[in-house]
Amino acid sequence: MTEIVLLLSLPVAVYFGWWLARTIGRRTSSKQRQLFSNQYFQGLNYLLNEQPDKAIQVFLELAEVNEDTVETHMALGSLFRRRGEVDRAIRFHQNIIAKPGLGAEQRIQALLELGEDYMKAGLLDRAERLFTELIENDAQTPSALHSLLEIYQQERDWDQALEVAQRLEQSSGEHMGDTMAQFCCEMANSALNEGDRERARRHLRQARRHDPRCIRARFILARVCRQEGEVDKALDLFEEIGGLDKEYIPELLEEYIETAEEAGQQDRSRARLEEWSEDYRGISLILKLADHLGEEQGGDAAGRFLVDTLTAKPSVRGLDRLIELKADGHLRADDSDDILKAVTARLLARQPAYRCVHCGFSGQSHHWQCPSCRHWSTTKKIQGVLGE
Ligand SMILES: [Zn+2]
Repeated sequence: MTEIVLLLSLPVAVYFGWWLARTIGRRTSSKQRQLFSNQYFQGLNYLLNEQPDKAIQVFLELAEVNEDTVETHMALGSLFRRRGEVDRAIRFHQNIIAKPGLGAEQRIQALLELGEDYMKAGLLDRAERLFTELIENDAQTPSALHSLLEIYQQERDWDQALEVAQRLEQSSGEHMGDTMAQFCCEMANSALNEGDRERARRHLRQARRHDPRCIRARFILARVCRQEGEVDKALDLFEEIGGLDKEYIPELLEEYIETAEEAGQQDRSRARLEEWSEDYRGISLILKLADHLGEEQGGDAAGRFLVDTLTAKPSVRGLDRLIELKADGHLRADDSDDILKAVTARLLARQPAYRCVHCGFSGQSHHWQCPSCRHWSTTKKIQGVLGE
């Protein structure tokens, strides 16, 4: 902790030195200059001795807030926030804002910093009011909009989030379509939780207007269609997802096959699975195909198919199935089966199934919004020998 503080503090101290040199050179007497530099070195000494509190106190005494020193004060305020001393950061930034004669840009900067302090302190409603006011005055719009967007996502206020995202796209040109589609999907899910499928469908249409390739909207709609007996439409949607992004095939596989069975269209799903397997060799898909082979031509055929496939692309999950087939007498028995089975089972049990491609967060379940970095649609099945 102290090392981090020291590292964070040093640039501030260096900047302070530069500022002092400039200020001293410009308008102070030599006596004051001596006083300043003594205090400055005292402050620096505190920093080097890992006593940031005393250092900050010295620097504060050195400089009243005015146009020349405001940036230093701002840097010290942010330093407090990064250290987790949010109350001090808030007082600090409020102090800057209260100074008369502050330049408009500096004032806005201090307000933005204060908003960040509020967010860190969990005072979301105060942060929201502050950023909203800034936006209404057209000041620093993109950064204020970004912070506001963050707040509405935390509060799960999707209507407001959508409005802010739209403004952000208009004012900065930043592409927000994918994100806005996710907000609409969240609203669709809320509608479904309230049993309102019509409203859910409206939100899903809106999602696809924002992002025509939105996978999640198709998933939700497919489930709605299935519930309402529109099984053909549901099958179409699952197939669209597989076509848009092969990495979602393992997500849809169970539901797709179940839906096809409900519709009495097993031939259709079987053919589609084979088509997907031509350029997607994920093990979930391979195992489903092995199931089909087993049902139609018996365990020996399923075993041969798995041996061929796994030779080309080894997978512990595949090996696990192979051992089951072996145990059922479909492959040559081997004494080491039990051990091998135990090892593979343990290996599989310890593996996280999903990982965020943005921040690396991993876990057992799929999240549309990564719980760690808050990015959308970045959680994917883990690839490789032990995964998909
Ligand atoms: Zn992440």
